[in-house]
Amino acid sequence: MVPGARMLLSGLTALAVTMAHASNLAAPLAMQQLAPGVWVHQGAQQAWMEARADDVANLAFVVGERCVAVIDSGGSPAVGQRLRAAVAQVTPLPVCYVISTHAHPDHVLGLGAFAASGAAAPQFVAHIRFAAAVAARQRSWGNALLRDGGISLPPQELAAITLPVSGEVEIDLGNRLLALRAWPTAHTDSDLTVLDRQTRSLFLGDLVFVGHMPVLDGKLKGWLAVMDELQRLDVGFAIPGHGAASRDWPAMLVPQRRYLEALQQDVRKALRDRRSLAQTVQDASLPPASTWLLAEHFHRRNLTAAYAELEWED
Ligand SMILES: [Zn+2]
Repeated sequence: MVPGARMLLSGLTALAVTMAHASNLAAPLAMQQLAPGVWVHQGAQQAWMEARADDVANLAFVVGERCVAVIDSGGSPAVGQRLRAAVAQVTPLPVCYVISTHAHPDHVLGLGAFAASGAAAPQFVAHIRFAAAVAARQRSWGNALLRDGGISLPPQELAAITLPVSGEVEIDLGNRLLALRAWPTAHTDSDLTVLDRQTRSLFLGDLVFVGHMPVLDGKLKGWLAVMDELQRLDVGFAIPGHGAASRDWPAMLVPQRRYLEALQQDVRKALRDRRSLAQTVQDASLPPASTWLLAEHFHRRNLTAAYAELEWED
């Protein structure tokens, strides 16, 4: 063999080894740096597990001087691994907090990717009601993941929260403070927001939807009341759970408020007219497709939830 051929061969071997190694690693999620140390991944505007879609929620991390906080972990173990790879691409600092904004599968099924043993384990942070909500639903999420995505959820303790939050709590990533706030029942009964004090970036979870139709899995009146409080906050960047982040605050809240108020009005009218839940849902017309993505998935479901809530109001 001529020397050149040997060099070429060893080069190819090295390339093959590199490629084999790379295929074992998760491809990092695409992240955008919105503000210094604030990295956001925008999920696809699809329903979770529709056509196997697992990357549908917005995910983020914030980098301090000592360590990193991850905010939501994605809709499958694989998405969690890809988020972890994205953190490693940006900084060698360890992940010290993994925060879940609420107990919905598209936001939390990547939690297992951040579990580590011993001193390196991060704190798992969520609303004080998060663990119970996950425990009640984890089995059905696992079934959906397997049925619709062919993905098995390894036995892992999604609900093992080491820092449950009620009221307000502040955490420090090293000269970088994050203010966490647990809210009364709104989108769900476990909504938590994260405010990066340095850039006034506010991570809203699904308390705000942009583009994607809002989904009611908590209390309609509670959600509107929480939005009243949110709109008074001084916000630099607002990062919704679905759709584009922006500085347009509180204007970002307006379409969602209009939709939820119309939902409330329509359901109250149906109740006054003594129409049954079945009639109300059957007769409902969908908002124009140009107004909200995924209306066909969620509008009738929202009517059902709102009807059950408002039926018993005074
Ligand atoms: Zn949600």
